[in-house]
Amino acid sequence: MTGIAEEKHSGRICAGRKTECRQTEAFDEVAYTKPSAIICSSGFVGMIRMQREQKSYAKEFIEGMRQAVRCDWCGRDKKRSRSGLCRHCNDIRKDLERVEKLVSDPKEPKTFVLDWQLRVARQKKKDCVIWGQMLHGILNGSVDSLGLEHWLCRVAKRIARDNQMHRGTATVLGWTFTPEQRQMLAYLFWEIFGAEASHKRESRAMWQVQCDSLET
Ligand SMILES: [Zn+2]
Repeated sequence: MTGIAEEKHSGRICAGRKTECRQTEAFDEVAYTKPSAIICSSGFVGMIRMQREQKSYAKEFIEGMRQAVRCDWCGRDKKRSRSGLCRHCNDIRKDLERVEKLVSDPKEPKTFVLDWQLRVARQKKKDCVIWGQMLHGILNGSVDSLGLEHWLCRVAKRIARDNQMHRGTATVLGWTFTPEQRQMLAYLFWEIFGAEASHKRESRAMWQVQCDSLET
């Protein structure tokens, strides 16, 4: 069995006294004040303790992410304008307002291009808001193992071009990660794909509007 705790404590027996185990910083005060003897060389106790610490940190991490000041639309914690939006979303807002102004202007001819611009601008806003709602769901709801499998499949598809690589791993993921750890992982995936979504928002919005046009 391997792990930081085992390596640092190899061969030592800590009888609940900090003085006998000064060589490591891996264990916290709580660990040392346990009255019962802890055989560190087994690694097992250390592993359990590490898991407990990870769970605790995942909770703190999620709480910290909840407290962060975020864009009202996309949810990213970028610098916000006075409108409460990040620069990216604020540009989309201004573009949408510009097009809506043209559409409401009676002197402006209502062309196909103008209608297209309006629909694309609205779609871009919708896409921003969807990503913000997704984040809200991650931080304030729960991330089930299927949700985590979904994110891993997205990674595999994008990087390895194989969307089957992690298909069916939900059960193992559920056994391996605590609810808080699943939340944390989903948040980290959301950050990656949320940033990617912002880079491709224009083209995805145009594609979506085109699809909608074909359906109607
Ligand atoms: Zn934003």
